Amino acid sequence: MRYISTRGNAPELNFEEAMLTGLARDGGLYLPAGIPVMDTAEIAALAGLPYEEIAFSVMRPFVGDSFGDDEFRAIIARAYAGFRHTARAPLVQLGPNHFLLELFHGPTLAFKDFAMQLIGQLFQAALARRGERVTIVGATSGDTGSAAIEAFRGLENVDVFILFPRGRVSEVQRRQMTTPAAANVHALAVNGDFDDCQARLKDMFNDFDFRDGVRLAGVNSINWARVLAQVVYYFSAATSLGAPHRVVDFTVPTGNFGDIFAGYIAKRMGLPIGQLVIATNQNDILHRTIATGEHTKHGVTASISPSMDIQVSSNFERALYYAYDQDPAAVAHEMQALQTEGGFSVSQGALQALRETFASGRASEDETSATIAAQREATGEILCPHSAVGVKVAGEHMGRNPMITLATAHPAKFPDAVEAATGTRPPLPPHMASLYERAERVTEVENDLGALQDLIRDRIAK
Ligand SMILES: *Cc1c(COP(=O)(O)O)cnc(C)c1O
Repeated sequence: MRYISTRGNAPELNFEEAMLTGLARDGGLYLPAGIPVMDTAEIAALAGLPYEEIAFSVMRPFVGDSFGDDEFRAIIARAYAGFRHTARAPLVQLGPNHFLLELFHGPTLAFKDFAMQLIGQLFQAALARRGERVTIVGATSGDTGSAAIEAFRGLENVDVFILFPRGRVSEVQRRQMTTPAAANVHALAVNGDFDDCQARLKDMFNDFDFRDGVRLAGVNSINWARVLAQVVYYFSAATSLGAPHRVVDFTVPTGNFGDIFAGYIAKRMGLPIGQLVIATNQNDILHRTIATGEHTKHGVTASISPSMDIQVSSNFERALYYAYDQDPAAVAHEMQALQTEGGFSVSQGALQALRETFASGRASEDETSATIAAQREATGEILCPHSAVGVKVAGEHMGRNPMITLATAHPAKFPDAVEAATGTRPPLPPHMASLYERAERVTEVENDLGALQDLIRDRIAK
C-alpha cells in the first residue's frame, strides 16, 4: 500500500514511513493511494467478533508489508489490553433509534486512546527494528496530549513534547499531562490558543533543518495511522446494529475532523453509512462550510467543550481532497488561500460532493448544558460536554436509520461543566482517583517558534 500527499508534491511512502513522518514535506497530509473495499460478506463476518479481531481485519489491508500478521495482531492486543471495558467501544441506547458509542474506556478517558495506544505500540516496534530514535512533538486542545503522553511515556526510542494552550484545558486534562514522571515526556504550556499550538507545530515540520536535526515525528490527528485506528469502531458499532444489511448514520463531535474523517474512510471501504453528521460547538467553521460553502476562519472562543475549540481543522484537507476529485493542485490552492486570506469558497462541485456524505449542526453553550441535564433525566447517562454537543445535533438529524452518536470523552474529564449542568460532580474512575494529589511538572513557553525549538533541542541533548 502506497501513501500520497493531498498536495501532490511529496514522496510516496509506505505505511510505516507515512506513520513515522506525520505531515508530508509539501505541507499536505498522507492518504492511501487507493482505498481497499470490503464486500458485503466480509463486512457481515465482522458482526459479533471481539474488537481486536475487527481491528485486524479492517486495518490489515492498509498496513501492507510494514508489519507481519502475527506481529500486527500482537500489537493490537497490547494496544487495547489496558481498556476498562471488554467490548472496548460499547454501545448504549439513548432512545428508540439513537445509540451512544462510548469511546472513553481507555486509560485517559477519551477516544484519543484508541489511536494513540495503537500508534505507541507501532512506533515502538518500528523504531526498535530500525534502531532509531525520534522526537515526537504534538499540539493538543487537551485530550491528544494526555493520550500521547500515556501511550509513549517510558518508551526507549522517543522523546515526547506536548504543546497545550495555557489555561485553556480542563484541570483533569492538564494533570494527566503534567503528572507522569517519565523523563522522556515534556508538557509545554504555550501562551496562546490551540490554533497557535497547531501552527507552531506545522512551522516546526516546515523547517526542514530542525525537522531532520531532531528527527521530528508527529502524532497529531494528521497522522494517517491515527485516522486508520479510528475507522475500526465505525465497523464494530455498525455491524452490531445490523450492517451491512442495514444502513446506519453517525453523528460525531468534531474539532480537527480526524474522528469523522475515519467514518468517511469506513464508508468508502463499503460500510453502509447514510449520513455523517458534523457536530460543532460555537466554533462552527465546519458547520458554516457545509451550510454555506464558505470556509472562513473566525476567532476561537473558549467553550465548555474545549477539545473542539478549533478553527483550523487540519483533517478537513483530506475530505477536500476527495471532494475535489483527488486533485492535489486544487487542494494546495485552497490551503494557500486559507493561510494567506483566512478562508476560501468551496467550489460548487466540491460542496455538492461534501453534502452527499456530510450533514452538520452546532450547539451553543446553553444547548450543550441543557442536553447534559436532559439526558441524565431521561436515560441516566451522564454525557461529557463534547458528547452532549453530538447528542443535541444528532437529535436534529434523526431519520429512519439507527443514529449512532460518538461519546468522545468520559464526563469526569470535564467535571465543572457537568456539575454546572446537573448539580452533581462526576467522580473519576478509581484507578485515577489520586490524580489530584500527584506533583505536576510543566514548562511555560511563549508562542514563538525559535523559543520552542531551542527548548526542544536543549532537552533532547540531555
Ligand atoms: C479530540 C476530541 C474531539 C474532536 O475530535 P477531532 O478528531 O479533532 O474532530 C471531540 N471530543 C473530544 C473529547 C476530543 O478529545
